[in-house]
Amino acid sequence: MPLHIETPLFQSRPLSILSGKSVWLKFEALQPSGSFKIRGIGALCEEYARQGKTRFISSSGGNAGIAAAYAGRKLSIPVTVVVPETTTMKAKALIEQEGATVIVHGASWMEANALAQSMLDASSAFVHPFDNPTMWPGHATMIDEVVRAEASFDSVIVSVGGGGLLSGVVEGLRRNGLGHIPVVAIETEGADSLARSVQAGVQIELDAITSVATSLGAKRVCTNAFEVSRSHDVRCHVVSDLEALEACENFLHDHRVLVEPACGATLAAIYSRNQSIIADFKAPLAIVCGGATATHEQIQEWRAKAAAAQSERSH
Ligand SMILES: *Cc1c(COP(=O)(O)O)cnc(C)c1O
Repeated sequence: MPLHIETPLFQSRPLSILSGKSVWLKFEALQPSGSFKIRGIGALCEEYARQGKTRFISSSGGNAGIAAAYAGRKLSIPVTVVVPETTTMKAKALIEQEGATVIVHGASWMEANALAQSMLDASSAFVHPFDNPTMWPGHATMIDEVVRAEASFDSVIVSVGGGGLLSGVVEGLRRNGLGHIPVVAIETEGADSLARSVQAGVQIELDAITSVATSLGAKRVCTNAFEVSRSHDVRCHVVSDLEALEACENFLHDHRVLVEPACGATLAAIYSRNQSIIADFKAPLAIVCGGATATHEQIQEWRAKAAAAQSERSH
């Protein structure tokens, strides 16, 4: 039995009416850890367990840390998550709720990650949030499920942070004989490391992450994601934080599920007034990647701030 569950898949009536397309939703937000990450991290942690590792170490104060903690509890392997001081109370509580030990260290992820790395020994394993080839076949199982359900889709919309999800989705398409299906890769402004790399023709590193979509906040995408953007039909688009936040609110209204701005970015491709992103397609499959670390109050607060900043710019 894998550590992830098979998630619901259906055609969204409100999103289909809004866009005039038949929009499929894959509800990864309903994974027990709150995001798709358990698919790949679950597969990775099971592999480490087979190798006899007796401790998992993560440095993610986000959905990857929660997924590692969940996997450890299910496999009866202790988990330590080192997070920076900026990590929210909510995220720490979710990790601790899974029985993992949270160590708060350093002003940014760099310092937290350095401590996590220094704790590794022969019997412990590091759980990377996106860059490990053992994870991607785990993420690919979401596409296996969609194909098994015989959903007829002509494109896949995914959010891109470090590119683990993108790597897994492309692997899933290829192993199901669907290597020709385009993938629409969405990032937010200020977390757009893939779009900028594709534009530059080389892998670039952002100076800083300025988007509220912290789960997309990888300054540099993994090499595989960059390679996949060249070997597969991957179309990059960048949405604003405000569009992502409005999509979170609209989705909560339409489907009664709260997702993070990282997932709102994907949904913005459909909700946004700029529907040109999906103009070429009739039946897009949106991966509702989820996210458990943002509260509704936080999303409303960010939205008010982003709206104020935008109206200031337009005056
Ligand atoms: C991690 C995450 C992403 C981005 O996934 P990558 O594999 O880093 O590209 C998107 N949305 C949510 C909710 C996430 O947790």
